[in-house]
Amino acid sequence: MSEQSASLPRRESVGVTIGDVTIGGGAPIVVQSMTNTDTADAEATAAQVAALAAAGSEIVRITVDTEEAAMAVPAIRERLEKLGCQAPLVGDFHYNGHKLLSDYPDCARALDKFRINPGNVGFRDKRDRQFAVMIEKALEYAKPVRIGVNWGSLDNDLLTGMMDANAKLAKPREAREVTREALVASALGSAERARELGLGSDRIVLSCKVSSVQDLVAVYGDLASRCDYALHLGLTEAGMGSKGIVASTAALAVLLQQGIGDTIRISLTPEPDGDRTQEVIVAQQILQTMGLRSFTPMVAACPGCGRTTSTYFQELASQIEGYVRAQMPRWRESYVGVEEMQLAVMGCIVNGPGESKLANVGISLPGSGEQPAAPVFIDGKKTVTLRGSAIAEEFKKIVDDYVAQTYEKRPDPAT
Ligand code: SF4
Repeated sequence: MSEQSASLPRRESVGVTIGDVTIGGGAPIVVQSMTNTDTADAEATAAQVAALAAAGSEIVRITVDTEEAAMAVPAIRERLEKLGCQAPLVGDFHYNGHKLLSDYPDCARALDKFRINPGNVGFRDKRDRQFAVMIEKALEYAKPVRIGVNWGSLDNDLLTGMMDANAKLAKPREAREVTREALVASALGSAERARELGLGSDRIVLSCKVSSVQDLVAVYGDLASRCDYALHLGLTEAGMGSKGIVASTAALAVLLQQGIGDTIRISLTPEPDGDRTQEVIVAQQILQTMGLRSFTPMVAACPGCGRTTSTYFQELASQIEGYVRAQMPRWRESYVGVEEMQLAVMGCIVNGPGESKLANVGISLPGSGEQPAAPVFIDGKKTVTLRGSAIAEEFKKIVDDYVAQTYEKRPDPAT
């Protein structure tokens, strides 16, 4: 995958190594995801981790909430190795992480990172001790942690204390503002405690997730200005379908444009039996459309209008997009830089030739009333005009040939 665009300034952060992936420290922004299987079901969880990794998730998080789940973690790692999947695994702990990590050392060893939620680590006098146990386990097994604060499970004692102090001010601030401040204070305070316990800043990633776009932008702006820890970015509980995608994109785009964010996760609620890998594709598309990283060739397609009254144009655009995504695992292994290829599938003569010329390979289909001919442009030059019922297949062949002739072949690892 290509390196991040050099044109956008990035906030400087301390790099954290998780397996063979680096978050922060100038590394390209990492895409991560989370499973929704029962972790105790090692077979189903390994299969979903492998699917998420195959879709492009560079780190995968699994919940570790019970003894059965903790016992399954080494088996998940083993199954993944048999599947040839090296994606680093993050254990998501709430309430009983200190106990599970202590009682199941093989689970602690098999994970590549622990996620600790300071609001759910324990209550009152138990909180500090249980947090310390988790950090001690991270030190014992040489693992990094993410201190992941969440609006929905914010440390209640901290919030109450800050609200009380605010109420005593001559001009109290809005409750929402105090809550934002409490999120940041919880993350920074917990990181400070972890440092006091001996964890280096190169082992700490922070996140402060909220479900509202404006709150997320404000909280991360504040957090980024007050520390140099690597930051995990994500809008929590983003929702289903287009609402989840739009809200996540709106929030993350603002922050990424400011150089904030070292790894992203898109928290989409899938449809029942929906494909979990959608969150990975959305994360990649956010980074790629912003010019921050390249993962797969992009297909530019016009929206269609009254000049495209048949469904042929939509079908072709969708076929090409599906074809490119399906070819990508093979192309990526064989060709250097193929993920940067730009394709265009356009509906008629109005913008078709112009947009197609800007792509590496573009096709301008005939709109209503036009001659039934589809000129193809390669690197700005018209090369051939396709006609008849096999346009889709012929265009795919042209794209295949372009890839083989344009991108440098990687050396065969077997030779
Ligand atoms: S390129 Fe043609 S078909 Fe596509 S939106 Fe523009 S006018 Fe309509």
